[in-house]
Amino acid sequence: MTRAANAPRDAIDAAAPATPRAGHVTLVGAGPGAADLLTVRAIRALRQATVVLVDDLVDAGVLRYVRPSARIVHCGKRGGAVSTQQGFIEAMLVSEALHGERVVRLKGGDPYVFGRGGEEVAALRAAGVAHTVVPGITAGIAAPAEAGIPVTDRRWAQGVLLVTGHAQPGHAGPDWAQLAHTARGGITLVIYMGITHSADITAALMAAGLAGSTPAAVVQSGCTPQQRAHVGTLRTLAGDIRRVGIASPAILVIGDVVRAAALMQDGGSSIDLPTPRAATA
Ligand code: SAH
Repeated sequence: MTRAANAPRDAIDAAAPATPRAGHVTLVGAGPGAADLLTVRAIRALRQATVVLVDDLVDAGVLRYVRPSARIVHCGKRGGAVSTQQGFIEAMLVSEALHGERVVRLKGGDPYVFGRGGEEVAALRAAGVAHTVVPGITAGIAAPAEAGIPVTDRRWAQGVLLVTGHAQPGHAGPDWAQLAHTARGGITLVIYMGITHSADITAALMAAGLAGSTPAAVVQSGCTPQQRAHVGTLRTLAGDIRRVGIASPAILVIGDVVRAAALMQDGGSSIDLPTPRAATA
């Protein structure tokens, strides 16, 4: 991007109601777990950072771009693990920036896709802290891609829906009956955080009329050396996950586009599903 193209954003940042010593916060998407899936812009932000707050799904290799003098703070939030409260993270972002630090908030995938980036930006805005967002490659697109699944392949789908399988405390969670209807209309369902409740999710989709024979896949640790992918059907998916021992982080993909992965595995000779397959490394 040229200097001229940057001008409007520079002008906006300059006008931000920050204190004279105020630093800056950049929310950076680190991609799905492989350091070489970082964007060039993400690397630039990491090189400039004086403080880096890191989420736990971020590949450690990404931190090689951080200068040795920078402070690195790990604030994982995975289920069951010791986690840092979201409010604490937001307060820390604000306070570090107000102390003049160039802060990078490093998040797995894309900061705005189930990444709480929106909440953090709201906190920064409320505090008058200048900020930028660097989009990242989201796991819901990249993990299926690595397993051979093009999520909007036009032979089978007209779109893709990114949805969480994990209801927020105090919220009802996704309306699976509605989503079954959507999926029947040719929209691929890509479900984040869906492993724990996969039995309930698949049962609810089938109860609402989505055929049990609908192709379905799960991809664990997509884009990393630990990637495992499994292809089956909506009916077999939850049992397969248990049997094969798939664990978080994993993405569920439900829809006919999963046939593309089956085609690939069969060398293109067959599109027959289901044939529950052993996990592939
Ligand atoms: N902001 C992230 C998503 C964070 S929510 C993004 O855009 O990708 C965390 C969930 O993302 C995990 O529970 C899992 O469902 C999914 N996920 C993250 N990394 C993954 C990976 N490498 N492979 C498969 N799923 C992944």
